[in-house]
Amino acid sequence: MSFKFEFTDNVMYVKGVGPRRAAALEKLNIFTKYDLLTHYPRAYENHSSLTKIADVFEGENVLLAGKISNITSREARGLTIINAFLEDETGYIQLTWFNQKYLLNLLRNGMRILVIGKAKYDSWSGRLALNQIQSFTILEPDEEPELGIVPIYSLTAAISQNVMRTAVKNLLATMPTLTEILPQELLRDQNLIPLDKAARTIHFPQDKIELDEARRRLAFDELFLIQCGLMLIKRQTQDERLGISHKKNGKLIKAALAKLPFDLTGDQKKVFRTVAKDMESKLPMRRLIQGDVGSGKTVVALLALLKTVESGYQGAFMAPTEILAIQHYEKFSALLTDLGVRIGLLSAKITHSKKLKDEAYQKISKHEFDIVIGTHALIQDEVKFAKLGLVVTDEQHRFGVAQRSTLEKKADSVPDILVMTATPIPRTMTLTVYGDLDVSLIKELPPGRKPIKTEAKSLRSRKKIYDFVRAEILAGRQAYVVCPLIERSESERLADIEPAEEIFDMLSNGIFHDIPCALLHGKMRPRDKDEIMEKFRDGETKLLVSTTVIEVGVDVPNASVMVVEHAERFGLAQLHQLRGRVGRGAAKSYCILISDSKANIAKARLEILEKTNDGFKLAEEDLKLRGPGQFFGEAQHGLPDLKIADVFRDVELLIQARDAAEKFITDDENLNYFASLRKNLALAYGDKFSQITAN
Ligand code: ADP
Ligand code: MG
Repeated sequence: MSFKFEFTDNVMYVKGVGPRRAAALEKLNIFTKYDLLTHYPRAYENHSSLTKIADVFEGENVLLAGKISNITSREARGLTIINAFLEDETGYIQLTWFNQKYLLNLLRNGMRILVIGKAKYDSWSGRLALNQIQSFTILEPDEEPELGIVPIYSLTAAISQNVMRTAVKNLLATMPTLTEILPQELLRDQNLIPLDKAARTIHFPQDKIELDEARRRLAFDELFLIQCGLMLIKRQTQDERLGISHKKNGKLIKAALAKLPFDLTGDQKKVFRTVAKDMESKLPMRRLIQGDVGSGKTVVALLALLKTVESGYQGAFMAPTEILAIQHYEKFSALLTDLGVRIGLLSAKITHSKKLKDEAYQKISKHEFDIVIGTHALIQDEVKFAKLGLVVTDEQHRFGVAQRSTLEKKADSVPDILVMTATPIPRTMTLTVYGDLDVSLIKELPPGRKPIKTEAKSLRSRKKIYDFVRAEILAGRQAYVVCPLIERSESERLADIEPAEEIFDMLSNGIFHDIPCALLHGKMRPRDKDEIMEKFRDGETKLLVSTTVIEVGVDVPNASVMVVEHAERFGLAQLHQLRGRVGRGAAKSYCILISDSKANIAKARLEILEKTNDGFKLAEEDLKLRGPGQFFGEAQHGLPDLKIADVFRDVELLIQARDAAEKFITDDENLNYFASLRKNLALAYGDKFSQITAN
């Protein structure tokens, strides 16, 4: 009998997964067989030897199997504590779980389980107890515990480790041998095991060696595919015929420089020289400018935009938020309108009105705007530039690779590309996300900047902190209060996080009752956001309670204090960006991070912020403590999700993958071989690489 096997089949076609479990799996983003296959274990446990309960010693990590009884639960200090006894033929031991109430629905007296944990003396009973339970598995009545290396998966309610393991096992059993996607020669050169073997053993390895081989192979695939994608983007644009040769710097640039209220720093000059050279060259420019918060990247972008205008082209400037787009628009207009540069704004504010929108589109397509500043609105299909010469993307880490290239496609010839980011991106990350770009750094800060004094405080000091903020405001300054959430949602209710709305109520009705306060968050209408931001910029509002909408780029020099509530909820890079909102004027500035997290790692992170103002140093330190996703804060990095590779741990592999990709793309000139890889790119990364897969 033969059957059809499709990876894109719904996960329900796997034995052991019914509608109810399928619905639960969706919470883990598992929809198809492919998703299940690539739901790699998050860890493994070595169940090689079972310990008898009578042989358990204190401080030992042990694997025990037995029958449970006397399940009880109680509430204490806000914690749910579940106790039970585990019994085997040699004795019994107490089990304790903290704050895992859902277990009450799973555990039944008389059930056999397999459990891993650390034994300690219980302060109540004085007996040995297992109270640091890492995991447990429910055994069927006569099931022998599975020994050897056992996968541990990320789970969700209604899916136990057992259910997940069985589902994966069933999938592997019915799955035909996977077709190899890499050429044999590459496998040999890189010393990689076949895909089929890796895909299976990653779930159920016999030993550590097998596991390492499987991991290496799958991680290589991920990195290699991304690198191939990036190489292709790069190759497409390395065509001299397509590039624009911009003219040498002319009068407009000189006039703008003369109008600026400051001189460029050495680094700003240097980077603009490089950019100018790139723009004058026939090859399309693809450059990333990395510069810490406040290093003055905007001016460099402005000069580059003027250069394209002088050469008879239009420039586009894409900002990640409405607020930023408007801020850039206002600043550019103030400086450039006198010089005869026609500047347009394209943001939700404009596109909400059909009339304004049509008018703006017209002016863009008729070259009645020289520079257009906007948000995502700039990359809508209907936006047609008459003569696009340069695309600047501000705070690039907010945009995906795909979005970047959509805007590039809006021209007959390939416009020059300038990308700016304040996120200190470590070199390895640059290779992954920006593998198609050249990199320039602005390290020097404009003169006269005073370092921001950062302090991590506990919730107990809140009153004192806000007294201090009040004093600063009374002395003529302004302040930000940043909160992680807007409102209390169902899922956050338990997490004990006060949302922006509540903090705003507490402050504006309490200690700041006589001071103009405002609330700002991303769900507001653009018009309202503008108005609030304008009032804050004008100094009318003194205290702004906000979510991270103010994270990037907002420039209000009179603001000298920032308080971040629940600071542990933010990525370190994000906190660094946030605090860059203060310290922009003459006054001494403060950033106060409030956190009650007991976790050592959270404390260590906040201490790093206290110690350094250097974004790059921060990045390195934080990476030692946490992974890349955490570093960037949630879902902001525009990185394709890596399921198994880790761009920090796998640096060496990343470099091998990049070199291999370079050779591969060069050799495979007509992309014959790549055609088959493309399918895998689509499967793995969906629309993140849509422009490549569509070709
Ligand atoms: P970022 O790199 O974070 O985007 P901005 O371009 O917003 O930084 O610049 C931050 C502030 O520094 C702005 O108020 C800007 O006017 C000012 N600035 C930029 N370059 C200089 C300079 N060379 N000298 C003095 N101030 C500068
Ligand atoms: Mg900026």
